[in-house]
Amino acid sequence: MPKKLSKDLKKIKMALETNVNLGIDEIYCPSGSCVSFNKLPAGPKDSKEGKENLKANTSLKDKAAALKKLEVKVLKCKKCSLYKSRTNIVFGEGSPDAKLMFVGEAPGRDEDLQGKPFVGRAGKLLGKIIEAMTLKREDVYIANILKDRPPNNRNPQEDEIKACVPYLKEQIKIIQPLVICALGTFATQRLLEEETTISRLRGKFYTYEGIKLMPTYHPAYLLRNSKEKVAVWSDMKLIMKELNLKVK
Ligand code: URA
Repeated sequence: MPKKLSKDLKKIKMALETNVNLGIDEIYCPSGSCVSFNKLPAGPKDSKEGKENLKANTSLKDKAAALKKLEVKVLKCKKCSLYKSRTNIVFGEGSPDAKLMFVGEAPGRDEDLQGKPFVGRAGKLLGKIIEAMTLKREDVYIANILKDRPPNNRNPQEDEIKACVPYLKEQIKIIQPLVICALGTFATQRLLEEETTISRLRGKFYTYEGIKLMPTYHPAYLLRNSKEKVAVWSDMKLIMKELNLKVK
């Protein structure tokens, strides 16, 4: 095979592998059509590749089902009083097979109204960060420490955190991301069981249950302190390297 063709094929293979690693299961073709990895022929059933494809699809389905079951449990939860004042629970959303998971603090007004995490101003900024990482919101999974909005966006209370954090831990256990990005003080301190400030903790990887965890500033903090965007971008680049994403 000509050297150039072999090099190009290697590059294409690496790019596809990166997509698969990040839970992206579709590629968009210039014609506007789109090919889904899940819909590609699995190959002969007894081939190694065919078996791997089958395993990946099964695991995705299992994870989605396990998350749905957990969501039903959260819907019925009355372990703290927040269920009384919420409009919707904000369970979390994204790919059940995501390689990158963002964890925030608690839903705000917009999230409570829509039942989705990070959809307000801070969420728009998080969306831009995800895009800058060459990802789409659907490729990652986004969740919070609390699943219900604290009234008037007050800080989460100890009893609320204690009641709710097991749900987040269960979500992480199901999804098994390669990297968790903890957004802000609450998420970082809760997952790492640390009291140190976010400004000291951010910028390096820690381990949560064998999963790499990168603390960074919360997007809401960035809206008020835009000069810290440089620090956040530097943290995101470390995550990108960890996920084999091309850093410009
Ligand atoms: N802030 C958070 O921590 N989570 C959200 O979902 C929205 C804002």
